[in-house]
Amino acid sequence: MSQAPILALHGGAGTIPAASLTPDLTNAYHDGIRTALAAGHAVLKSGGTALDAVTRTVVALEENPLFNAGHGAVYTTDETHEMDAAVMDGATGRAGAIAGICGPRNPVLAARAVMEKSAHVFLAGEGAMRFCREVGLEFMPSAWFGTERRLDALRQEMARRAANSADTRSDADRHGTVGAVALDVHGNLAAATSTGGITAKTPGRVGDSPVIGAGTWADNATCAISATGQGELFIRVAAAHEIAARMRWGGQSLAEAADDVANNVLAPIGGSGGLIALDAKGNLSLPFNCDGMYRGFIAPDGIAHSAIHREDWRIQAST
Ligand code: ASP
Repeated sequence: MSQAPILALHGGAGTIPAASLTPDLTNAYHDGIRTALAAGHAVLKSGGTALDAVTRTVVALEENPLFNAGHGAVYTTDETHEMDAAVMDGATGRAGAIAGICGPRNPVLAARAVMEKSAHVFLAGEGAMRFCREVGLEFMPSAWFGTERRLDALRQEMARRAANSADTRSDADRHGTVGAVALDVHGNLAAATSTGGITAKTPGRVGDSPVIGAGTWADNATCAISATGQGELFIRVAAAHEIAARMRWGGQSLAEAADDVANNVLAPIGGSGGLIALDAKGNLSLPFNCDGMYRGFIAPDGIAHSAIHREDWRIQAST
């Protein structure tokens, strides 16, 4: 079987409002999206697996301080980082996830190691950290994950809470996440998601990103999903699995199911955010119910597309 490969990514629904995004920063986001797409697409072009492609794409996003994952992760109320990540392989149904870690340079590699090198699906906290050391993942000091921008966002939020004033922050100051979905030449799907979570979260809080069926899902029979947004709401409706279930049992197309969940299930309950969805036939859907979602894709024609807000697509040279 030789399927034309497809790759899509998101860099989070916590976009900076269009009015405050300078041309330089706009270009930097588009560059970050394009660089990560190129990294994952290189894997797919050489016949590699969807699982390797989404992992590689998310590593590239974790390395970019513009995005809230790995280097650039938001802070908890304790001024610490607690990162969550997950991967899922649509061909086998295997999955790996990690929560509340700070140390492994690329949390998505930690999630992948849980899937491939442990007897479990989900590891959290201290035991997870020990596991990451035992399997030899690269570690970085906690200062490496932080950025001035994220620290400012935390301090402003702590001051706001102390003053008991209204929350007028943009989504960009609250949260963000990165994720990827891919379809490889063998016809297999995979998904990966990685996040620092939500600015000023309570230590110990875990969002939807590492919860299989909430923020991450992949099953060749239905779809691959990576979500971003107010994680509590995505968990409550099992957002990613809800899309798969609508396709499997309700006969909805990928686009119908993904749009419905973003706009008619999540939005009415305050689940601001979006998701990227891909099925084994190569259909792609990138719905969001908020101002924007950093996102991009490379379709079978090999041309990279990137966007931040609505209808601001940039088409890059063929990869
Ligand atoms: N979904 C992430 C979380 O709740 C945050 C985000 O995607 O913006 O941890």
